[in-house]
Amino acid sequence: MVQARILVVEDEVIVARTIASQLNQLGYVVTGIASSGKVAIAKALETKPEIVLMDIILKGEIDGITAASYIHEQLDIPVIFLTAYSDNQTLERAKITQPFGYIVKPFTIKDLQIAIEIALLKYRLECELRENRDQLATILNSMSDAVIATDEQGMVTFMNPASEALTGWQREEALGTEVSRIFNLVDEVTDTPIENPVTKVLQEHNVVYLGDYISLIDKNGRRIPIGDSASPLMRRPNQVNGVVVVFWDMSEKRQTELLKQALEKEQELNSLKSLFISTVSHEFRNPLTVIQTAIELIEIQGDNLSEAKKTTYIRRIKSAVQNMKHLMDDVLFMGRSEAGKLRFNPTPINLDEFCRELIAEFSLIGSNLHEFIFTSNCEITEAWMDEHLLHYMLGNLLSNAVKYSPAGGTIQFDLRCNLVERVITFIIQDQGIGIPEVDQSRLFESFYRAANAHLIQGNGLGLVIVKRCVEAHNGQITFTSQVGVGTRFTIILPLTTGISSSQ
Ligand code: ATP
Ligand code: MG
Repeated sequence: MVQARILVVEDEVIVARTIASQLNQLGYVVTGIASSGKVAIAKALETKPEIVLMDIILKGEIDGITAASYIHEQLDIPVIFLTAYSDNQTLERAKITQPFGYIVKPFTIKDLQIAIEIALLKYRLECELRENRDQLATILNSMSDAVIATDEQGMVTFMNPASEALTGWQREEALGTEVSRIFNLVDEVTDTPIENPVTKVLQEHNVVYLGDYISLIDKNGRRIPIGDSASPLMRRPNQVNGVVVVFWDMSEKRQTELLKQALEKEQELNSLKSLFISTVSHEFRNPLTVIQTAIELIEIQGDNLSEAKKTTYIRRIKSAVQNMKHLMDDVLFMGRSEAGKLRFNPTPINLDEFCRELIAEFSLIGSNLHEFIFTSNCEITEAWMDEHLLHYMLGNLLSNAVKYSPAGGTIQFDLRCNLVERVITFIIQDQGIGIPEVDQSRLFESFYRAANAHLIQGNGLGLVIVKRCVEAHNGQITFTSQVGVGTRFTIILPLTTGISSSQ
């Protein structure tokens, strides 16, 4: 084992030599003997001992305590004091220099050895501790992730530079502050404050992860999207002494996500537009062919055309024009709602009257093959809704009920008003062909038509329009259907402001 190298500082020559000889006996190497504070510093610098034995009372302007403080602080060499005095005042002064030992004269050779060995061990442990601490500090200071630690009361005990940059708080002002002031979070979607994860960890003693779309509000009120985890700090098992929160800036990632979403939406819109154009032009071709053929027939037959045939051809032309007009209206409506220009213009409506008139309209233009049964419990005379959109919405559902019940049958139309829950429910139920289960999930897609409907004229836009009208009212639409039995559509709309009841 390599023996420690020791510098002896003692102004009594005989004592100094005795100590040096004792040290040699113990196997230590004496790097030098100094008789004053000044020489002690010079010899410590020159011989670089591992330990200094320092007499407190020294001749000259620099006493042992001053010299020891310089040697310890500047040269990082541990010092053991030797003194004949052990009064409290001296002890207090000596303590400030953080000595590694204190031997009171007279001492035995054993006392000397014990003091030196303990000082060496203490110094080694202190070096290891310092190294660990430095390493930890370097890691935390170099981390790009922000770290905040708290005590068990949620008061900040540590912040690394990344967390200072992200929160806008300086470590000095943050220490001892309640963590929620510094780590202030909001839900980006609902714009409401969220429970601080530190509080949750302290209650539950578990790791807590933040959900998606959480923002930190920094000291200057700036919002920064972040991701984070908070973990309990445990010095002993089952004993939570605080919380460590690790968080990071997600601004860039969020930006990329938003761009990606916008791009996907754009692509979806583009393909929808192409589908739109191809379907619409295809749908226009059919009635145009009908019109062209009918006109050609009228031309060819000229005066030979019987009155009955003439009526048939004209009816076909009219119906084809009607179909084109219907398609045109739907396409224009879709275009407006797609561009976000769908105007929601609520006015007070007497719903009971409105529905009865709508049915009358249908009975007039539709065939008399269907029986409409209307029931209503609605006595509200001023429900605030958009009349135009309401007409589209219920008109499309009634038209479907008629169209997809070719054999006739009953069409039940119920109007329900719930004043407690403040909702209006419209139910339209037919006994028609029904919708096959495989088609049901795609019914609200543009141009989608169920397999059993292809022989019946339609564009596959009606329900998309209905849904947009329902959404404009902040309502909901659902349906149930069974092939060969019938279909039931339910629309629930909220009763909004300006309502008065005739009750
Ligand atoms: P249009 O755009 O002219 O209304 P459409 O009736 O085909 O055409 P939607 O009203 O959107 O389009 O309906 C989409 C599809 O849903 C229909 O093609 C049909 O297959 C099915 N469907 C809708 N309502 C009913 C119903 N009451 N009974 C049976 N099938 C229905
Ligand atoms: Mg329809």
